[in-house]
Amino acid sequence: MSDLRQRFYMENCPVRGEVVHLEETLQTILAQRDYAPAVQILLGEMLSATALLASTLKIQGRISLQIQAEGTFKWAMAECNHSGEVRALADYEAGPRFNEADSSQTVLATLVNPVLFISIEPDSGERYQGIVALDKATLAECLMQYYDLSAQIPTHIVLASTAQRAGGLLIQLLPRNNEEEQEWVDEDLWPRLTLLTETLKTEELTELDAQEILYRLYNEEDVRLPDAEPLHFGCTCSRERCANALQQIGVQAVRETLEHQNPITMDCQFCNTRYSFTAEEALSLFGEHLS
Ligand SMILES: [Zn+2]
Repeated sequence: MSDLRQRFYMENCPVRGEVVHLEETLQTILAQRDYAPAVQILLGEMLSATALLASTLKIQGRISLQIQAEGTFKWAMAECNHSGEVRALADYEAGPRFNEADSSQTVLATLVNPVLFISIEPDSGERYQGIVALDKATLAECLMQYYDLSAQIPTHIVLASTAQRAGGLLIQLLPRNNEEEQEWVDEDLWPRLTLLTETLKTEELTELDAQEILYRLYNEEDVRLPDAEPLHFGCTCSRERCANALQQIGVQAVRETLEHQNPITMDCQFCNTRYSFTAEEALSLFGEHLS
């Protein structure tokens, strides 16, 4: 199993974490569009990050990260749901141009007034949206700042990607049981664990499997691994959603569209599935018939 999320705990220690690895899934997603290498790396990091963040939620639903900017690079987004389905997309058709050697940091540095939205959409219940300043050099640093300010759970995140493989690691310090525990954990353990985590190199995060990564980093701790969960590409598009979209633009707009496009076709940007509605089908959504 190459595309997975591996949770880990440390025995007698208020720390939990996750490692994610994406390979086939990443390649499937990156093949859907013609992205520059630097954008591929950014999308790989965003995918790893959403898979990590999804693991911290206890909801049925999905979490997405969306970068929005004002320049020619308009947006990039990645999403993960509770069953490990991920998808991602970026829109920067009008440029800018990136070089072969550019990284995700180059992309972030070129963005004009960028903002990072973190959206949590439970299948039932209220939607949550947080906004994060994209004013650090890396996506991981921006996300850590978000945790610092909002969640108040000490969280350390590392992300890495190539055009073939992406990986990420998240480690969190859970509430301590008593003052004594708080002291040794805060003064010794947590700083040591975050320092160790920072030593991970891109190659290690993208090439090694989860167990090997955890062994290299934390072999002095008693690390426990429950079963890993698979991650895979999945799209939430459907004919029903397209029909809803047509109903939202209204019968007048649908009639106008039919004049130059019959049947009406709608392409999912994420998976390239084409949905097609004949005039009869489109009008029947409004209880109308061809006249
Ligand atoms: Zn789709």
